[in-house]
Amino acid sequence: MPASPELQHTLGKTSGFSGTALHTGEKVTLKLHPAPVDHGIKFRRKDLQDEPTIDAKIENLKTVERATTIGEGPVRVHTVEHVLAALWAMGVDNAIVEMDANEPPIGDGSAQPYVDLIRKVGVTAQEEPRKFFDVRETIHVGSKTGALLVLLPDDKFRISCTQTGPNNQFTQFLSLELTPAIFEREIAPARTFVYYEDVKPLMDKNLIKGGSLENAIVVRGEAVLSKEPLRFADEFVRHKILDIIGDLALVGRRVRGHVVAIKPGHAANADLARAVAREQKRRSAVAVTRAIPSGDGGLDIDEVMQILPHRFPFLMVDRIISFETETKCVGVKTVTINEPFFQGHFPGHPVMPGVMQVEAMAQVASILLFKLAKSTSRIGYFMSADGVKFRKPVLPGDTIFIHAELTKSRGERLAKAKCYCVVNDTVVSEGELMFTFLDK
Ligand SMILES: [Zn+2]
Repeated sequence: MPASPELQHTLGKTSGFSGTALHTGEKVTLKLHPAPVDHGIKFRRKDLQDEPTIDAKIENLKTVERATTIGEGPVRVHTVEHVLAALWAMGVDNAIVEMDANEPPIGDGSAQPYVDLIRKVGVTAQEEPRKFFDVRETIHVGSKTGALLVLLPDDKFRISCTQTGPNNQFTQFLSLELTPAIFEREIAPARTFVYYEDVKPLMDKNLIKGGSLENAIVVRGEAVLSKEPLRFADEFVRHKILDIIGDLALVGRRVRGHVVAIKPGHAANADLARAVAREQKRRSAVAVTRAIPSGDGGLDIDEVMQILPHRFPFLMVDRIISFETETKCVGVKTVTINEPFFQGHFPGHPVMPGVMQVEAMAQVASILLFKLAKSTSRIGYFMSADGVKFRKPVLPGDTIFIHAELTKSRGERLAKAKCYCVVNDTVVSEGELMFTFLDK
């Protein structure tokens, strides 16, 4: 019996606190409200007419300079990452973050005040299962500033982060699995740190009126300045992990995977969230909406089986939908969870093996060879493959369009075919296949 699914959670009830906004220095009150299933996390601007809300989604990302800003229409909320990290890491899937200003109170520069608030009201299970993003293939993003984020498959949500300052000063590394307990103990108390040279111009321009040594650690040369001593010897890397969690929350699904981050920042974090959201969109796209043509232009399964000797479980073409010319055609393979290879590739993470896609290409190309030879006495044997690339995972529910084109047929003995597989208008694999003709 499958394990019962993890459920979505929201807050037990409403609670709030007041503090200073970092950029304006004004007083702001923040309240966290429970929200129904599938609501996600939304910010509400109580100070504006009609109290507009903004979805905490990567599509709404506006700027990533120093902090993460989201917006819809003309409405903005700044510095959302710490409250998002706290909600997400403490297991809250659905909530409204209500504020009477354009950014949350900065508190002590960590996620601690938000965790305290969530702790006070508790987290309650809801009736619908949680939405996850399972990493099936590596996703990576980088930036010119040397940030690198790699997302690898993993059963849990883990982050391994290396942080380093100018001239490799304060190089710190930390790797952990994110559970609410670990987040609360190891990550939430880690405060924002800034470099004096970066904030000096902002202070001069009066752009961070709420900033002080009470809500940030200031690094000036070798010196580390803050009102309260460091909470961890490696507080900087912990805060970087906090920011990654907050920025990745914009995916709107819980990532099951391992984030390996080197010198991360909001821009790179946002790029990773965008890449994950794009992959999720691709996966959940409706497989095929148009009717797959049949009839005189192609071959149905009976006709395919008259040509190809392959049988279950090795016949990788359901239908040939069109012959563009004598040397070019498109086959279709509908991939279902019942494919025998999914039992072992991989249990719990069904991905179509790349070699099966190459086999599908070879079978479609063989049909072209057969038509070319116009004889059943000779058969094309698949000999070798060049430049094979697997670009995207093929999953149950996908329909693969297998394109094959004969590019060369030297004499009577050798033939070459350029092939590629397409799912949802995206090339998922490709390769150049060589065949040799032999008498049956
Ligand atoms: Zn931060």
